[in-house]
Amino acid sequence: MFYCENCYLLNEENTCAFCGSRLTRGPKPDDYCFIGNKCSPWAEMLHGILEDDYIPVIIRQWSPRTAAYTGEVGTRTDFFVPYSELDHARQLEQALMDSSFEQPDPETDE
Ligand SMILES: [Zn+2]
Repeated sequence: MFYCENCYLLNEENTCAFCGSRLTRGPKPDDYCFIGNKCSPWAEMLHGILEDDYIPVIIRQWSPRTAAYTGEVGTRTDFFVPYSELDHARQLEQALMDSSFEQPDPETDE
């Protein structure tokens, strides 16, 4: 596992898949890692549950101007957490997204 300081991304190979930089080291516990991006209202909700669990999260909001440049609609928020909290944050994100889906149809239950 290698860590790109430019992109805050973890890579399996020693070349960053995003920026192409040569990577020389793995992640340290306090390296911030990109976990994903969300649009409103999910961005605000995820930010809230991460803070509730005392995860030091960094967010980067894409301005409407940036969004227009990339062809995306609306404001998008990128989330970064320390490598040591990465699994924890992903679990919280998964729980949030799972809770947003309706329960399976009872007929499909075994
Ligand atoms: Zn990179």
